Amino acid sequence: MMGKAYTLDERKHHLAHLCAQGHDWNNTGKSLRYLSNGKCVQCQKERSSRHYQRNRELVIARTREWQRQNPITSAENVARVNAYRQKQKEQGTYVRSRYGLPYGFLSENDIPANYASRVAELLGRGMNVHEIKDILDFESKYLEKIGYSLTVAQLVHEEQKRYWRENPEARRLHESKQNKHRLRLRYMTDESLRLYNREKSKRRKAQNRGQIAVAIPASALRRRFNEFGNCCAYCGNRGFMQIEHVIAICNDGLHDISNIVPACLRCNYSKGRKDMEDWYRSQAFFCQARLDAIQRITAISADTQLSLAVG
Ligand SMILES: [Zn+2]
Ligand SMILES: [Zn+2]
Repeated sequence: MMGKAYTLDERKHHLAHLCAQGHDWNNTGKSLRYLSNGKCVQCQKERSSRHYQRNRELVIARTREWQRQNPITSAENVARVNAYRQKQKEQGTYVRSRYGLPYGFLSENDIPANYASRVAELLGRGMNVHEIKDILDFESKYLEKIGYSLTVAQLVHEEQKRYWRENPEARRLHESKQNKHRLRLRYMTDESLRLYNREKSKRRKAQNRGQIAVAIPASALRRRFNEFGNCCAYCGNRGFMQIEHVIAICNDGLHDISNIVPACLRCNYSKGRKDMEDWYRSQAFFCQARLDAIQRITAISADTQLSLAVG
C-alpha cells in the first residue's frame, strides 16, 4: 500500500521497518516512524483523525470549556496581534496588502483604493506620504486638463519647469554652471576658440604696453603654424602650440604676424623675454636650419606687410 508523503523531519522521524498497514514511505519499502515512540506516523495520524471524528462533539465541548476557563479579552487579543505584527516588521515580513502596500496604508492616509498600484509604485521609489499625495493631486489635475496621464519623463520635465519658475536664483546658478562647463568643453575641442583666446590675451598685453595691436585672425595664425609643419619652431616637438613672439612683447616686440612663430609650452616659457638667437644657440636642441627658417619666414611676412603698407 502506498503511504502518504509526509515530510521527513530528522529531529522527529526516522525510516524503519514497514508497519502492519504497509504504509510505504515514498516507495522506500519502509515506514516513517516517530523517534519518540517508534510508531508509524501515518497510522498515528489516521488514528487521531478517527478519534476526532468519533468524539467530535466531545472535543469541541472540551475546547470551549478550555477557552471559557482561559478567556482572551479583546484588548489582550489586539495587543497580541500588534506584538505579532511588530515582530514581523522587525523580521522584514510585515503583512502587506494588495500591490505590496503596507496593510491599511490607503485607508490610514485617506487615499482612494483605485490609486493603489500607482501608490505602490511611488512608495517603492522611496517617496513619503506627502510627496505621493502631491503627485496624485498633480496627476489627477493633468488628467482633467489634457485627458491622459503624463509619462514619467513628462512629469519630471513639468516638475523641473515648476522648480525653475519658483526658484529663479537656483536657475541662474545652474545655467551659469552649465555655461562654464559648455565653454570649457568647447575650449578643449575647438582649436579656433583656443587660438582666438590666446591671441586675445597677447593682444591685450601688447595694448597695455601702448601698442596699436589689431586682432590677428585664427586663419592667419593657422597658416603660420602650418609653415612650421605644426611643430615647435625651436625644438620641433609636436603638440599644442603656443603663440610665440620672437621678440617678446615686454621688449617692445610687435603683436603682429611677422613676429609670431609656433612654440611648444616648454620653449615658450624657457625663452620668455630673452633674445631669441642668443637663447636658441644655447639650447641642446639648437638647429641651424630651423633658425634659418624662423628668420626667413618672419622676414618675408615683415616685407610683405611693409610693401602692403607702402604700396
Ligand atoms: Zn502505518
Ligand atoms: Zn619647443
